[in-house]
Parts: sequence; structure tokens; C-alpha cells
Amino acid sequence: MPVRAYVGLGSNQGNPRLQIRDALSALKQIQQTELVGHSRLYRSKPMGLVDQPDFVNAVAALDTCLDAHAMLLELQAIELVQGRIRGSLRWGPRTLDLDLLLYGDKRIDTEQLTVPHPGLSQRSFVLYPLYEIAPGLRLNNGELLADLIKSHSSTDLELLGSV
Ligand code: ATP
Ligand code: CA
Ligand code: CA
Repeated sequence: MPVRAYVGLGSNQGNPRLQIRDALSALKQIQQTELVGHSRLYRSKPMGLVDQPDFVNAVAALDTCLDAHAMLLELQAIELVQGRIRGSLRWGPRTLDLDLLLYGDKRIDTEQLTVPHPGLSQRSFVLYPLYEIAPGLRLNNGELLADLIKSHSSTDLELLGSV
């Protein structure tokens, strides 16, 4: 049985809207996986280093028969194809960032992979697009996404519209 996974997309280099569009096309090509939906595009302020362009973000839903680590490898391969250079700067500029936000209701904690993604419940640019495509989602700690979102302002987030 396939597992419903959610992926966070972000870009602030090399025509970010196009990067997200290309990334969604690439997600469609992942083996044993179906892209079942995606949010509209949002603009967010960078975390950490503030002296860099704003980010464009979206969230995608996938049904996959790959295990979570195999999915991470697929996501990293897409980042590389789209020119991601792994710099030393945490949260620095990048053409594409693909984070595995959720993998079913699984909890994973290995050297390569933490799921749910640790930033998920703190980041408006993840919560709002996720809510758009999965309004009834309950996290594996029992918390409803709809409740979680209430304590997160969307003032630093701008809806850009469809992909
Ligand atoms: P953040 O993870 O806080 O959003 P980031 O996306 O900038 O930061 P990266 O440099 O893209 O971080 O990734 C660093 C490492 O995080 C990756 O090499 C990967 O092994 C690891 N990682 C752990 N959990 C996840 C996850 N759920 N999704 C993607 N990468 C993850
Ligand atoms: Ca990230
Ligand atoms: Ca990442």
C-alpha cells in the first residue's frame, strides 16, 4: 500500500517560481510514486541569514511505495539536477530545497532523516501551504493541523497564486 508523504519546496535563486514549477514536474517522475496534489505558491522571508532574496514556497502531496530514505535520495537528486550547491551556510540561498515533511504517520530519527521534519510545526511557510492541501490533517502527536495553524501568524507570508 502506498504511503501519503508531504514535501516542502523552497527556492530563492535562479527564478524561484520556475524552480518550483520544474521541481513539481520532477516529483511527478519519481519511481513508484504519484504526485497527488500541491499547494499554490507563497512568498516568505528568509530564516537565519536575512540578507538574501525572499523564498518562494509550496507543499506537495505524494503517494509513494518508496521507503522514506529512498524518497529522501530522490528529493536530493532533484535538488542537484536543479543546481543546488550544498554550501556551508545554514538556511543560505538555494535554487531548490526539498524537505520530507511527513511520511504517513511514521516517526523517523536517523542520521540522514528526521520525520516529521523538525521545522514543520514552527514554520508558517510550511503550515499554510500544507493546510491548503490537507485541511483535516492530524499530526502523529495527535495535534490537528487546523489547531496548530491558529498559533502561527501568516503576516510574514504572501500568497503569490497558482504555480
Ligand atoms: P532545515 O532542515 O532546517 O529546513 P535545510 O533544509 O537548509 O534546513 P539542508 O542543508 O537542505 O537543510 O539539509 C541538511 C540535511 O538534513 C540533509 O543532508 C538531510 O540528510 C537532513 N534531513 C534530515 N531530515 C530531513 C528531512 N525530513 N527532509 C530533508 N532532509 C532531511
Ligand atoms: Ca529546509
Ligand atoms: Ca533541506
